[in-house]
Amino acid sequence: MLAVYFVPWDVEQNLVLEAERLYEAAGTFSGIERGDLVAVKLHVGELGNPSYVQPFFVHHIIQKIRDMGGKPFLTDSNTYYCVQRHNAYDHMQTALMNGFNMAPFIVADGLRSENSCLVRTRGILSEIQVSGAIAEADAMVVVSHCKGHEISGFGGAIKNLAMGCTPRAGKLAQHRTVSLEIDHAKCNGCGTCKNVCPNNLPEIVNGKAAITSDVCMRCPICKSECPTNAIKFVNQENICKALASAALGVLETFKPEKVSYVNFAKDITPNCDCLPNPGAPILEDIGIFAANSPVSIDAAFLKKTNYQLFNKHSNIDCMTQITEAINIGIPGETTPEIQKI
Ligand code: SF4
Ligand code: SF4
Repeated sequence: MLAVYFVPWDVEQNLVLEAERLYEAAGTFSGIERGDLVAVKLHVGELGNPSYVQPFFVHHIIQKIRDMGGKPFLTDSNTYYCVQRHNAYDHMQTALMNGFNMAPFIVADGLRSENSCLVRTRGILSEIQVSGAIAEADAMVVVSHCKGHEISGFGGAIKNLAMGCTPRAGKLAQHRTVSLEIDHAKCNGCGTCKNVCPNNLPEIVNGKAAITSDVCMRCPICKSECPTNAIKFVNQENICKALASAALGVLETFKPEKVSYVNFAKDITPNCDCLPNPGAPILEDIGIFAANSPVSIDAAFLKKTNYQLFNKHSNIDCMTQITEAINIGIPGETTPEIQKI
């Protein structure tokens, strides 16, 4: 059994010291060897979003990697839609503005998402593009913020691997496993969806919205802005399966002992850190988890929380990505042993 280690979010304690005890118990940095180039995979937060992982925790992780003789670098991949992390220049500016200056920030897929390699995987996807700096790293510490997600239910370590370690082409491959439908009985033709869409979709035909273009990215932008809730995703379980496939592909580029995971369950918003407006937290702060399995660490978070709220918000069962990850061979448990430190 792959245990998950946990410290509660107890503000009566020094949480950096609590995290230190957690990492020691979990062996978070034990796979790092002198001279390793170590990717610290994180999400630096969209500009304006206040709920990403606090930089002082990342600073501490960087110090621990340096203590092991590793060469840590912060990394993430560019977004597939136009926000402040869409190219390396804007992404690096956002990282600095959000406080991530404690190590070099290397955008994993290059200036305009041109740096990646194709890796075979299993499940709903047979192959996936992996961002170049991730594929080339010797080791990786995956630092994730646990929160809800509009399409996949929630985002933790699996999603950080899957969407976060793949370039635009990889993200599109995952998103395009779902479909979008517009309920014409609810659509009033207002055009709000078209105004907010980065691709100027959908067409408004005879006073009703209609998506006919292959360019559609199946992102949550138009859905979240539609005033009548006329837009819905269908086959959402497919993107959960795609997350598992992509995560497996990313992990194929590492030796298993070279990847470890830290999940922060604080400021648990209904929407993800990619949005400048993720919404108010819907669950109380829980704590910090550490493990050697992305499956077990995410399952441990769900086990500690009322994830039915996420299910209701996104219309998908959060466990789907976890069970699919196990089905296709990522080691881990749906009900892991959680050791409180
Ligand atoms: S925003 Fe909603 S109601 Fe308005 S045109 Fe688009 S789908 Fe129809
Ligand atoms: S999902 Fe909506 S906002 Fe995103 S590209 Fe398609 S039509 Fe545009």
